[in-house]
Amino acid sequence: MSKRNRLKREQNREQAGYPFKMLHYWMKSFVSQGQCRCGRPSTEYALHHFLAIKEMQCLAASGKSDQQATEVVWQKALAEQQKGIYTVRIVTSHCKQCSMALLEQAVGENAATLAMMPMMLLGDRSSVIVGAKLLTKDDDGKLFAAMTHAKTIEELRRHIRGEEIAIHLSR
Ligand SMILES: [Zn+2]
Repeated sequence: MSKRNRLKREQNREQAGYPFKMLHYWMKSFVSQGQCRCGRPSTEYALHHFLAIKEMQCLAASGKSDQQATEVVWQKALAEQQKGIYTVRIVTSHCKQCSMALLEQAVGENAATLAMMPMMLLGDRSSVIVGAKLLTKDDDGKLFAAMTHAKTIEELRRHIRGEEIAIHLSR
């Protein structure tokens, strides 16, 4: 095998599975009387985080740089998700305004509005996922937000991987 072919094979192996959609959080409708961090008296959406943000804070507090702390938590979540495992690490709840602001910060106003609209209209029959599309394993990815009808982690896994959900029509 020529050196060139070997290099090509190695590159192909490294890029297998990419582009990969890595999930950061899943935003669901969840009305509660708990106070939002901004001070508003109730919250309307719950963010199910796939990144261990608490662990990130602990690592940073123990002397790691923010970048190192993020890297540890990021790599752990990425390795899991590539095996098809989606672990919700922490759930935080926010008012409508704060949820929208978080989403706008991630993907911009237009994409945030588009992704939120079905959930605002349909309530808990729809939810929003936020993640990054990674082109290579070293890519930080371009952030995206999308609505989903998934109700369970398994449905979400299939949605994100673009697997068809079989629909059996009865005669
Ligand atoms: Zn708020």
